Amino acid sequence: MGTRKKVHTFVRVKPTDDFAHEMIKYGDDNKSIDIHLKKDTRRGVVNNQQTDWSFKLDGVLHNASQDLVYETVAKDVVAQALDGYNGTIMCYGQTGAGKTYTMTGTTENYKHRGILPRALQQVFRMIEERPTHAITVRVSYLEIYNESLFDLLSTLPYVGPSVTPMTIVENPQGVFIKGLSVHLTSQEEDAFSLLFEGETNRIIASHTMNKNSSRSHCIFTIYVEAHSRTLSDEKYITSKINLVDLAGSERLGKSGSEGRVLKEATYINKSLSFLEQAIVALGDQKREHIPFRQCKLTHALKDSLGGNCNMVLLTNIYGEAAQLEETLSSLRFASRMKLVTTEPAINEKYDAERMVKNLEKELALLKQELAIHDSLANRTLVNYDPMDEIQIAEINSQVRRYLEGTLDEIDIINLRQIQEVFNQFRVVLSQQEQEVESALRRKYTLIDKNDFAAISAVQKAGLVDVDGHLVGEPDGQGFGLGVTPFSAKPGKKSKSKKTFKEQLSSSARKEGASSPVSGKELDVSTSKTQLTPSSKEGDVKDMTIRERETSSIEPLPSDSPKEELRPPRPSTPPPKPVAFEDFKNERGSEINRIFKENKSILNERRKRASETTQRINAIKREMDVTKEALNFQKSLREKQGEYENKGLMIIDEEEFLLILKLKDLKKQYRTEYQDLRDLRAEIQYCQHLVDQCRHRLLTEFDIWYNESFFIPEDLQVALKPGGSIRPGMVPVSRIMSLGEDAQDKFSQLQQVLLPEGPDSVAFYNAKVKTEQKHNYLKTMMGLQQAHRK
Ligand code: ADP
Ligand code: MG
Repeated sequence: MGTRKKVHTFVRVKPTDDFAHEMIKYGDDNKSIDIHLKKDTRRGVVNNQQTDWSFKLDGVLHNASQDLVYETVAKDVVAQALDGYNGTIMCYGQTGAGKTYTMTGTTENYKHRGILPRALQQVFRMIEERPTHAITVRVSYLEIYNESLFDLLSTLPYVGPSVTPMTIVENPQGVFIKGLSVHLTSQEEDAFSLLFEGETNRIIASHTMNKNSSRSHCIFTIYVEAHSRTLSDEKYITSKINLVDLAGSERLGKSGSEGRVLKEATYINKSLSFLEQAIVALGDQKREHIPFRQCKLTHALKDSLGGNCNMVLLTNIYGEAAQLEETLSSLRFASRMKLVTTEPAINEKYDAERMVKNLEKELALLKQELAIHDSLANRTLVNYDPMDEIQIAEINSQVRRYLEGTLDEIDIINLRQIQEVFNQFRVVLSQQEQEVESALRRKYTLIDKNDFAAISAVQKAGLVDVDGHLVGEPDGQGFGLGVTPFSAKPGKKSKSKKTFKEQLSSSARKEGASSPVSGKELDVSTSKTQLTPSSKEGDVKDMTIRERETSSIEPLPSDSPKEELRPPRPSTPPPKPVAFEDFKNERGSEINRIFKENKSILNERRKRASETTQRINAIKREMDVTKEALNFQKSLREKQGEYENKGLMIIDEEEFLLILKLKDLKKQYRTEYQDLRDLRAEIQYCQHLVDQCRHRLLTEFDIWYNESFFIPEDLQVALKPGGSIRPGMVPVSRIMSLGEDAQDKFSQLQQVLLPEGPDSVAFYNAKVKTEQKHNYLKTMMGLQQAHRK
């Protein structure tokens, strides 16, 4: 951080033979100026008008040569520009007070040359003194007249007339004027030529364009860029020196000026007061917003006013009494500027090209270092270069195999490879995510949970309930496998979220009452069979297991001869208990037979288990008796005194027999206990089979019942599992109206669903079958309700 610096303010008094000695006095140190106004007697006796002012400045230049002015005002600013500090020198004052003389000087007389040529000279001299740096110098010359921008160097043959008007552009590097020509100058002479070119244009323009040159602001800018000549130094510095010759500050337009003069006056007054506002705002450290954009002058100078610049304000004044009022005004401006502080800082930049070169050099060095380390560690040929497509593909396949479990671990080679492994993990994961989603999309219509319009539309259509669940799929842990009591209606589900056990016990309590089927064979209620645990995954797994375990129970083919022989459909369906008896004799006979068989096996095993338990209890009792007898014998022996022979205890025959018996009993106990354990496992298994069969029996019954008494026969063929329509996919109400084309579409859809890998065929088949079944049953229910209405 640099230190804060005040804006340096100087006053230059234009030499005159008629200097107002009584009114203008300088301090002894030449750093203050006192103004004394004679009392205006015309204002009467009571006159509170202020008559004395004192201004503190950084220097008063009276009768100073151009040389001294440059030394005092500009030399340091220019010198610091070569070190990277921006600098701005402005001349302020009323017309004719010597601003242009100070800034440019006379072009005819070398001695009277002003700050501009001297600054250029100093820059080139300093460049010569710094052979360690490659320093480039560029210049531009801008004129602002009535808020329009003019390029005073545009007349140079290689510039050409600009088509579009110049604009002020801001970017992170700072402010620049788009369209303003900037000229590279390699020597003093070229620079001077440019300066003169500009000056000439300024004068010509004042004639041809009827411009009063004292009514315009001129900004001559020297751009410096210094690169170190040593290759390793990628830092470089840039700076700008703005030399500003401001328009005359006298208050114009007071005395009835009109037309062009009025316009000029307005613009000058505005831009100078905006300049003051901006500079004052800069001096107020609490101000965050500085109004730079109010006029072209402050906007163009945005990064050259205050901020990180060295700033100098030179106020040109007349020494004559006649001009005292304007002089006073100019001095007031100067004293306000003096309060402003800036914080000069070096403009350091980085040469990207050099930086890359340096980094490349360092990289090569580090690679050599790595190679040495590898050879010391006996590692051969580790490649540290970026990976090519083939290597990345190899890592991708490693990651896939790792995720599948066919690869135990991925060897670590180097950092680059580790990073690529992580990368590929991300790639593979996102691919899998997409695959899952598109698989879901192929099968289902996915609705965005936040898309309320879509949700309410499907709710209206009756496809989902208010919670977004599919109709007919109860929430919680249970699901209905088509044996929903007839009173149930879609969308009117019980809101209570009971646990599985609670549902089980409550439905058991209602046994018989709500169940239309209560045959003696079925010792568990119908409603109880509805409550099958149903995590989605569980469904599929359960179904595949069931399918395998009850593989002997094949569903009867739909074109079974029995069906064809079926008697004509009655007008009113028979009560379910009656129909169930029929079903067991007819299409359900095979399932019923297996169900009965399994049940009898289960009962037999249960009986055996009970017998074994009884035996175990008997053995246990006998063991207890024997233990007691043995203890009695032992205590008897202890009372009578023990016999001992060569360290061996001697016991009588009775006790010996008891010990043998106990040993035998223990063995029996163990055997029986093992048997019981085996039996219990078997019972559990059988129980499972019986449950499966019962479930199957009821499900098949329901299908049969619906087919026999509700669904139109021609629709049944298409609706069957394996048929062309998957009912869950369309609203029930529309099934009836499905045409041939729609059916074709559905069969095409099914073909799209073909599983990808051979290993997954079974899995998908099972899943598809299960889904078909669910959908079929759901449709049945829907049709039942439609029928009821
Ligand atoms: P401004 O640019 O402020 O309107 P100029 O620089 O054009 O004023 O000065 C007006 C005239 O006074 C010019 O002819 C100029 O040569 C002369 N002049 C101004 N200051 C000095 C000075 N310090 N010494 C000699 N002549 C001067
Ligand atoms: Mg001038």
